[in-house]
Amino acid sequence: MQSFVPVPSQSHFSFQNLPYGVCRRHGNERCIVVALGEHIVDVTALEAMGMLDVPSMQGRRVFDSGSLNDFMAQGRTVWREVRARLQQLLAADESTLRDDAELLAQVLAPRNDVEMLLPAGIGDYTDFYSSREHATNVGTMFRGADKALQPNWLHLPVAYHGRASSIIASGTNVRRPLGQSNPDNGATPIYGPSRSLDFELEMAAFVGIGNELGQPIPIANAEEHLFGMVLLNDWSARDIQAWEYVPLGPFLGKNFATSISPWIVTMEALEPFRVAAPPQDPLPLPYLNAPRRATYDIQLEVYVQGAKMNAPARVCASNFRYLYWTLAQQVAHHAVNGCNLRPGDLLASGTISGPTPESYGSMLELSWRGSRPVKVGDETRTFLLDGDRVTMTAWCQGDGYRVGFGSVEATILPARLED
Ligand code: MN
Repeated sequence: MQSFVPVPSQSHFSFQNLPYGVCRRHGNERCIVVALGEHIVDVTALEAMGMLDVPSMQGRRVFDSGSLNDFMAQGRTVWREVRARLQQLLAADESTLRDDAELLAQVLAPRNDVEMLLPAGIGDYTDFYSSREHATNVGTMFRGADKALQPNWLHLPVAYHGRASSIIASGTNVRRPLGQSNPDNGATPIYGPSRSLDFELEMAAFVGIGNELGQPIPIANAEEHLFGMVLLNDWSARDIQAWEYVPLGPFLGKNFATSISPWIVTMEALEPFRVAAPPQDPLPLPYLNAPRRATYDIQLEVYVQGAKMNAPARVCASNFRYLYWTLAQQVAHHAVNGCNLRPGDLLASGTISGPTPESYGSMLELSWRGSRPVKVGDETRTFLLDGDRVTMTAWCQGDGYRVGFGSVEATILPARLED
């Protein structure tokens, strides 16, 4: 199955993908679009032309609000219908758009000509901690190998509530945060720019259909609540985090910035890359237990480019399938107490580390808390320096095509000057 719009074979944005995003077009107008090869296809325009049959939301067009929340709230049947209709309109053997130059000019534009924005209004953001390797590495560094995993870790997907206001789109640069830390565990803490700024390689799922307050989501239905996924960089100031996190968890060491990739790859597009999740021992409680636990085979990479380097250097290669807790388990756990999820809520996976040192998803682990400098091109790093550009990328490899996420990137700016 092919499109009349050409797609390079290595492109993340194949005809099988059609990820959704929000961009600025025609000067200032926010449009909902899908990516296809080197182009965007304007879904807002297609709906306005009457070429999509989507139920309206309280009398307004679903793709007219400049964010994907209304569409997310429609649910899986509508998501599938719209995807099928877009594939039909863009298919190589379909003439409606292909042979109408005027129509095509309104709908199709080079991807480089548009500015990508955050794809949805994110009401709430949760960050899980679902990689056994990451939790073990961090626990070993902070508590010792014999106490690496806390007693709860194998029984529930641990998480904390993050902050939605500082979630930023890829390309927005990140200023090194100022804050309080206690590097030598002395009697008094110090204040200043973070000395151990880090990335965390994560993916995140956008909630589509939510649940009513007080109504849990059974694990058997959990996946139907998810609209799609993005890449996420959970920027972390390790020195601030280490001092502040006791006893309530991450706060200012995390909430200065969280970057996401602009294209939401739908769960439908990920379906061919569904694989069995790693076995769990002990078996979790019944509300977290599904007969066939599934995850996705998504290849992940992180690159760092210093200000004086002329190319990005790869520092990590991992895979989403390494995670111990699945998306379905995260959703079922999040709602088991009746907590209501809403369209546009973002559920991040936690740092996705794998079994080998090359697959560790943070500088904290790669440099083993700063004790082993990491080779970055011709340079070395323990943590990130001002001017470093961090790029994360992810894709599923199909037979002759890719379903990819593009990238999430940002450059570290120096800390704000003191008055
Ligand atoms: Mn995290």
